[in-house]
Amino acid sequence: MISVPYYPLKRVNNEFGESLNQAVLQVVNSGWFIRGEFCKRFEEEFAAYCGANFCVGVGNGLEALSLILKGYIALGKIKIGDGVVVPSNTFIATWLAVKAAGLKVIPAEPAENNFLINEESVKVSIKKAEQKNIKVAAILAVHLYGSICPMESLKKLANDYGLLLLEDAAQAHGAVAKIGEKIYRAGNLGNAAGFSFYPGKNLGALGDGGAVVSNDEDLINVVRKISNYGSSQKYVHDFIGENSRLDEIQAAVLSVKLKTLDSQNERRVKIAKRYFDEIENDYLRLPAKTNTYKNLSENVYHIFPVHSKFRNELQKYLAHLNIETLVHYPIPPHLQKAFASEFKNENFFVAETLANQELSIPLYPQMTEEEISKVIFSLNKFSPF
Ligand SMILES: *Cc1c(COP(=O)(O)O)cnc(C)c1O
Repeated sequence: MISVPYYPLKRVNNEFGESLNQAVLQVVNSGWFIRGEFCKRFEEEFAAYCGANFCVGVGNGLEALSLILKGYIALGKIKIGDGVVVPSNTFIATWLAVKAAGLKVIPAEPAENNFLINEESVKVSIKKAEQKNIKVAAILAVHLYGSICPMESLKKLANDYGLLLLEDAAQAHGAVAKIGEKIYRAGNLGNAAGFSFYPGKNLGALGDGGAVVSNDEDLINVVRKISNYGSSQKYVHDFIGENSRLDEIQAAVLSVKLKTLDSQNERRVKIAKRYFDEIENDYLRLPAKTNTYKNLSENVYHIFPVHSKFRNELQKYLAHLNIETLVHYPIPPHLQKAFASEFKNENFFVAETLANQELSIPLYPQMTEEEISKVIFSLNKFSPF
């Protein structure tokens, strides 16, 4: 009986053969390890990939997001204590970034079919914030599971309300949205975007890494300084900064892996298509289908979520068949101890329901047809009774 791992990092990275080893060796031999040629080159490549003008490599995805917010505070576009609208059903790092910048978390409920926030739910949460005398300054839209948020309507809302529109693109490298006749990548759909290169992401480093992508040159300049001790030049410090930089080894590795990101994402989309076409079981629900434009997709399937009232039984059943699954995420942020006192009088029913029903099944470019078939066959045979 074959087993299907959730995400076998060794297999994923082995596909690059010797080129990752060589990238690491080149950096070792260069004798320069922080913010040198490799980081500069990757920043240019990744900005161009996203279709944006600028990119700054930073330490990780959480800090990419908090640096954007701190940057806009330094530029006077957000004030300490302002509110930032975030999804109620995201990975906790989205919320932590808002806190790290001294801002208030304003949760918005996702739609039940695609798990993403939208114009209506953001409006509801802005109204709730205003009733508590919190001024909302920004929307931080999360392209959860690799699926692009409804950015056209969020952009319009942000314009109407005078808000910044920011992207948490940590799960959505390469995903696209069509606005008018034009196709835009994640990272080029708002004022600024934060990316993570955590090893398990669609574009993953061999350690921690992140990036801020934007067309806003003022923001990029400030983020570059804040992430480097607030320094404009060596030993001259304009801001209370921090240390959050993408190191040369990770940048060199990411340059190698970026070359195949689109083809890797295409393979993810193909597997998702098989799941949509072939999985059929009344005890579970598949995610909403999304659009593709030639080889580009609104959803790059960082995660393929299925939902079931019998989620725990389903997970146990699959584990029994040696199919590894994960839950993204079992406890929504507002119910975490870290946030419990702040949100004890609020409930986010959609987020709570999704957290109780979500199960992520294996989906990665290196899956064999045999593995994909086994996942489909097993899901179709599931019964909780
Ligand atoms: C991974 C992730 C982050 C944080 O990225 P790190 O590099 O792990 O700090 C933020 N937001 C979302 C949605 C993520 O999935």
